[in-house]
Amino acid sequence: MIPPTGRCDRLHNHTVTPPFDPSPPATHVSYQLLIRVDRPVRLRIGALGVQEFPAGHYLYTGSARRNLEARIRRHLRREKKLRWHIDYLLSSPHAEVVGVFTADLEECEWNRSVKGEVVVAGFGASDCRNRCGAHLLLLDEEEARRLSP
Ligand SMILES: [Zn+2]
Repeated sequence: MIPPTGRCDRLHNHTVTPPFDPSPPATHVSYQLLIRVDRPVRLRIGALGVQEFPAGHYLYTGSARRNLEARIRRHLRREKKLRWHIDYLLSSPHAEVVGVFTADLEECEWNRSVKGEVVVAGFGASDCRNRCGAHLLLLDEEEARRLSP
């Protein structure tokens, strides 16, 4: 188990790295996946169509009011039916989850605190009512380093 990264204590983050050793606190409802894309990829992302992803580190923010642990485990599983936008990205052999964080924050609030840029408008944000733009953000190098295990 890797010790928590230096994220703000206010967030009460629980940090895990694959192989995922879960049991996030029961109060946690949101999660972030730190994803490394090791070369530029073009992928079909469900209804969003074919999209390009530059190489780099991305942060995906989601929530599960129930069964947070099961949701995260699903993201980490390679074999599954593609359902959410994130499933399409993670189906690429060039995309890998390298860190998982959970928190008791509302997902949009947490997403908007991330220093990163929208690459694919609407990605993971089908249910977003807070104009996040996307729930997948490409991190700048400093932020990627800070979050990397
Ligand atoms: Zn949002």
